[in-house]
Amino acid sequence: MQTPIYHGRFAPSPTGPLHYGSLLTAVASYLQARSNHGQWTIRIENIDPSREPKGCIQDILDTLSNYGFVWQGRPYRQIERIHHHLRVADNLLQWGHAFRCQCSRKTLAVCTETGAMGPIYPGNCRYLRLPADQANVIRVLTDHTQLSFTDRNYGVRSYDMASTSGDFVIVRADNLPSYILAATVDDIQQGYTEIVRGHDLLAITARQLYLTDVLGKPRCHFLHVPIITNDQGEKLSKQTHAPALPKWHARHMLVNVLEDLGQSPPKRLRWGSLETLWSWAMTHWDAARIPNCPTITYTDR
Ligand code: GLU
Repeated sequence: MQTPIYHGRFAPSPTGPLHYGSLLTAVASYLQARSNHGQWTIRIENIDPSREPKGCIQDILDTLSNYGFVWQGRPYRQIERIHHHLRVADNLLQWGHAFRCQCSRKTLAVCTETGAMGPIYPGNCRYLRLPADQANVIRVLTDHTQLSFTDRNYGVRSYDMASTSGDFVIVRADNLPSYILAATVDDIQQGYTEIVRGHDLLAITARQLYLTDVLGKPRCHFLHVPIITNDQGEKLSKQTHAPALPKWHARHMLVNVLEDLGQSPPKRLRWGSLETLWSWAMTHWDAARIPNCPTITYTDR
């Protein structure tokens, strides 16, 4: 059988401009794809338009272009694919792998235990077979399946689904797909062979793979990279006021990222052209050198 061509992606949520932490993930996924002679596409995860500042998507694409990234095809917008996500949720309901749930936040607040992926649903509506008009959300049924996978950077991970995740939401109360459902369906349908993303999503990869298995689809590989934190140990994000990537210092920022990714870029790359920098990075990229600590503190160099 022929080995499938490598297909990777960068999937930013357009809640604000790209920052140093997003750049690190973008660089790692890009270099994995390019050094494997594969394809690299962009998926804009804009399921929730209420969180999307005007002009944000274009700003993200312009920044990636300024930094010298080249992607295949038109960037996907996740919102255009909601009907696919909801169709899969309907199938899961029909096959008995999912159920409608009417529990309010108040009900859940008093009776939940917490596992590695957040509060564990206590199972109240599991077997009620509620009609759509009496339900708030749709959840996937979990059991004591031991979900194991090998992350290319963090090694073997194993989760008992019932006690670390519990029945998780796939369709939210506003009838939009949850992040897990949308990402899983898109990752399957868009045919990615490896997903490179931040360590904060490592644990919920188990939910993504659980859904993939339930749907009977082949799994892809995962490689998580450390997330970048500020001096207070908080993840760089819009909420923690991470500064937007500067427009004019692409080479400087990219060399810092390569250093944080455990590569050893020569100093001269800071002053050469972007083409020289990317060409060096593609030739010398070694994913085995990515640090396998969960976080790296941002340092201004
Ligand atoms: N949209 C997520 C983020 O911006 C990334 C999700 C993924 O790569 O699967 O953190």
